[in-house]
Amino acid sequence: MQFTARTQPRRQGFDRNRLPDPLIYYATELDAMRASEHCRGQSATARCPFHDDRHPSLLVNLDTGAFRCRVPACGAYGRDVLAFHMARYGLPFAAAAKALGAWRTRT
Ligand SMILES: [Zn+2]
Repeated sequence: MQFTARTQPRRQGFDRNRLPDPLIYYATELDAMRASEHCRGQSATARCPFHDDRHPSLLVNLDTGAFRCRVPACGAYGRDVLAFHMARYGLPFAAAAKALGAWRTRT
């Protein structure tokens, strides 16, 4: 018999479960987002906000929020909407989490 430690819900700090749905987040953040057919999951392409992009070079995964720019000179990359928000607005981790409503504050 093994105990699994149940961690107490933290009263304050980052809460990943509160991150916005990548589909909704990217629909508001990215211009001209187009759904693209990929074999698995939902993904979309959009003009990359991290470089002067004329063609949709940014590939986003609408399930996980991961994003990647296909232009090597740009190289924008991240694993979730939080990483995107930090990169796009130059925010540190906590500020980006708060901006996305994913920061639990003590009540
Ligand atoms: Zn780019």
